[in-house]
Formats: sequence, C-alpha cells, structure tokens
Amino acid sequence: GPTLATRLDGLPAPATIEMARRARELKAEGHDIISLALGEPDFATPAAAVEAAHQAALAGKTKYPPVDGTPELKAAVARKFSRENGLDFAQDELLVCNGGKQVIFNAFMATINPGDEVVVPAPYWVSYPLIARMFGGVPVHPVCDETDGFSLRPERLAAVMTARTKWLVLNFPNNPTGGICSEEDMKGIAEVLRDYPDVWILSDEIYEHLVFDGNRFTSFAAIAPDLRDRVLTMNGVAKAYAMTGWRVGYAGGPKRLIAAMRAVQSNATSGVCTVAQAAAAAALDGPPDLIREMVTTYERRRDLMVSGLREIPGVTCAKPAGAFYVYPGITGLIGRKTPGGRVLDTDTAFCMALLEEAHVATVPGSAFGLAPYVRLSCATADTVLDEALKRIARFIASLV
Ligand code: PLP
Repeated sequence: GPTLATRLDGLPAPATIEMARRARELKAEGHDIISLALGEPDFATPAAAVEAAHQAALAGKTKYPPVDGTPELKAAVARKFSRENGLDFAQDELLVCNGGKQVIFNAFMATINPGDEVVVPAPYWVSYPLIARMFGGVPVHPVCDETDGFSLRPERLAAVMTARTKWLVLNFPNNPTGGICSEEDMKGIAEVLRDYPDVWILSDEIYEHLVFDGNRFTSFAAIAPDLRDRVLTMNGVAKAYAMTGWRVGYAGGPKRLIAAMRAVQSNATSGVCTVAQAAAAAALDGPPDLIREMVTTYERRRDLMVSGLREIPGVTCAKPAGAFYVYPGITGLIGRKTPGGRVLDTDTAFCMALLEEAHVATVPGSAFGLAPYVRLSCATADTVLDEALKRIARFIASLV
C-alpha cells in the first residue's frame, strides 16, 4: 500500500501522551485512576480572557488574521516582553503561533538541515528532540545533574558543542525537573556560545512565572544582550494563565529568523484563531495577582509532594525551584518486584506497574532522557496529590 515518509521512521509517540492514553483506557474500564502524567494547570482560564474572546467573536473578529498575529496581541506581547523581561522587540521581530509547540516546529523547520546537531540538555521536554528529528536534526544531550539542582553547567555544554551544532535549547524553569539555571550558569553558557557564532539559541521561558523560594527569573537574552541576534525567546499563555486549550504561543527574535518562521507558518496553519488571540491579549494585559495566587498554590503542592515522597524508603527527591513538577529518583527501587509479579528493572517498568497496580499515572524519567526518575505533575488539587502519595507509598511498601 501507500507508504509513509521516511522522516517519521523510528519517531516514537511522546511517552507523556502514551501514559495518558493508558490511564484513560483503565479509567474507561471503571478503575479509579489518578493522573499525574500531564502538565496541565487545573486552574480556570481568567474570566477577563474568556470575556475578551466572547467580545471579539461578537464584534465579528472572525476572519483570517494576519499570519504573524493580530496587531492587538502583538502589541500586548511586545509590552509583556518589555515589562517582564526587559526585552524590546519591534513588530517584525515577533510571531504568534499555535501554542509554544508551533514556535519550536517553525523554528526548527526554518533552520535545520539533515545532520545538524541540536543540543537539548537532559532531562528535556520530549518535543524538542522529536521535532528536531523530523527535519533530520541530531539531538545531543548534555546532562543537567540532580546534584547541580538540574541546572546546565557551562562545562557540560562546552563538552558537547561541535562545528555541526545548530541550536542550543534552554528551558528553565525546566519540564520535567522544575530546575532553574542560576544567573552565574547562564553567564557561563553565554560565554561558551560566544565561541560558536553560528549557533541559534532557543530559550523556552514558558514556566518563567513559576519560581519559588524567592528565586528570580531572568531571560537568557537579557543576560547576554550581545547574543540577541541569534536568541529566540519563546513563551505562551498555556501555563501562566491556564490556557492550554486556547493554543497561543509567541516568540521574539531576530527579524531574519522570525521572517523564515512566518513563511513556514503561512504555509502550514496561517494565523492563530482570532478569538484565542483576543483572549491571550487580555490575559497578558491582565493584573498579575492571578499568577501570584497560582505560584502560592504550586509552591504549597510542591512542598506537600516533596515531603511526602522523601518519607518513602527507596525514593529520593530534590526540591524543585520552579515549574509544577517533581522529579524523584528511584534508584533504590530498581530490581524489586511487585505483588503482581512485575520486575521493576527500569523506571518505565516502575511507572507502568504503578499505573496498572496502584492506579497512579506518571511518566518515567527515561522518556525525558534521565533515568531512573519519575515525573509527577503537581497541577492537581492537594487532596488528589495526598491520595496519590498514599497509593505510591503503599505500592512501594508492597514491593518485594
Ligand atoms: N514548552 C514546554 C517546556 C512545555 O512543557 C510545554 C507544554 O507542555 C510547551 C512548551 C508547549 O506549550 P503549548 O501548549 O503552548 O504548545
């Protein structure tokens, strides 16, 4: 029969999606499943954003938008970058996309030739290497070690840079670890990059507001202004405003790159849904107290999860400085056996067994490039997290 493109050869579905799928299946069979597998805020979209979408639709803003974004949203994005990140972008240095994910897709399609290396520090959000591979890119993964707070140490980066390096991806606060990168490490990273003038830098700042313990977030482009002609700063409304379903992401970067990404998008999807753009503009221009409330909640949940997990023998757990995930290590459980007879030889086996036998869905660290760990999302009510902790503790206590 008709064949599929070779560019899809060996391209796995993201493990996050796979775990969520199996969890849904078990739920449909009637099991009481707790899912901590997806990074999706449990808050409601701000009312002002919903209202703005409604008003835009009523006002007839329902025709094809400009490919690069509505003037209203682009203006709001420019204000946001200036106000919160100290970055000033002209209108032709901004692009609005269908979620942060399309920023990455556009950028990689516009720049990667087969064989180009894309440096994605591990652990990483699964989409960076998967998208890079679609265009023949070769992912390279320096490790952000738990002992370094999951930060990227400049010497680890320097060790993997080559003449074929095309991109460096930075994602702090990080999915899956919640780790942040100190200003000192960022300066060191910039120093390494100065020796490689042909490398683009993607700074995915989608979790920027979610930092705890008095830590402050700084954009990479603000730390290294001399590199700005090759830094693409990306963000979106999904995580900061609980707007995952509205599909609005955006990026600021050099005009040359933005123009190329815009050309890709114009042939793939055109401009983003008009009413969603109106909602995003209202969210970005809204008061900061909603975000502050979320940060307080996520910090409390993080504390709950970290202390609960640390009480479980065989589990270690670093305290994440940001985002809404915890990333406990399970080295102490590898090789044990479940009451159902499963051998926990990897973190994937652990997560599968935890789902099948204790009905808690999580994602194995190996999916993110650093094992044996487990990613748990804290974007769920405290009572649910409590119950999940109980199930996990009971499951681990039952191992032989
Ligand atoms: N970047 C990171 C690090 C993420 O974790 C996610 C979502 O999980 C995204 C980008 C994508 O966000 P969006 O929903 O805007 O495509």
